[in-house]
Amino acid sequence: MRRKIVAGNWKMNGDSAFIAKIIPALENVAVADGNAIVIAPPYPYLLSVSQAIGSNRLSLAAQDVAYTENGAFTGAVSASMLADVGCSYCIVGHSERRALFGETDAYVALKIDRLHEVGIVPIVCVGETLEQRESGLTLSVVEQQVRLAVGHLSADMLSRVVLAYEPVWAIGTGKTASPQDAQEVHAHIRGVLASIAGDVAERISILYGGSVKSSNASELFSQKDVDGGLIGGASLDASDFSRICSLLS
Ligand code: PEP
Repeated sequence: MRRKIVAGNWKMNGDSAFIAKIIPALENVAVADGNAIVIAPPYPYLLSVSQAIGSNRLSLAAQDVAYTENGAFTGAVSASMLADVGCSYCIVGHSERRALFGETDAYVALKIDRLHEVGIVPIVCVGETLEQRESGLTLSVVEQQVRLAVGHLSADMLSRVVLAYEPVWAIGTGKTASPQDAQEVHAHIRGVLASIAGDVAERISILYGGSVKSSNASELFSQKDVDGGLIGGASLDASDFSRICSLLS
């Protein structure tokens, strides 16, 4: 059985009052053994969320990490710092980092290595733009992103990665890939992972992201190769996010 995960990416949102509201709500959600609710607040709140979760029912993620180890990199945050404050996951390669902050596939690969050195599981985001989808390039674009990010990993290290398929045109837009379209891309990603690491691919969780809400999550998550979701906007609504997380029971 693959681990099912619902991860909430708060992006540059949230504050102490929101933490005080959402953590108790999520602590009450029943989650089957092996599945995970993951929360990714902005850096300044990692420690307070880490202390607030206090149990192993919720897991902490960062939204990004430096591609280098500690040193003279003003404004950057290293993988060892994330481990120190209790992160067990970290998002890398989010399309907003790629589009707004110059994140390249090469940086994504380096960040995965830094995270593995400290035992943090990377959540590696891939996905096509609308233009690429309309040009029929979805599968090839996503395949290339996957290969450049994780193609250098051994099967053992690859088993410690989570993938997230996030079509760029669906992020924050209210448009969602149909469950069938999502399944097609997820199955392709799993095939690419199998070509890198054989049977290990069957154990790797592949999340879907892009305007997931409680009203569409169930159908998306019931697809064979969709192992949960990476949730942006809806993760800022305690009731809606709790409903999505309850699909992990
Ligand atoms: C995201 O930021 O990863 C995301 C999927 O956002 P949204 O759910 O708002 O589309």
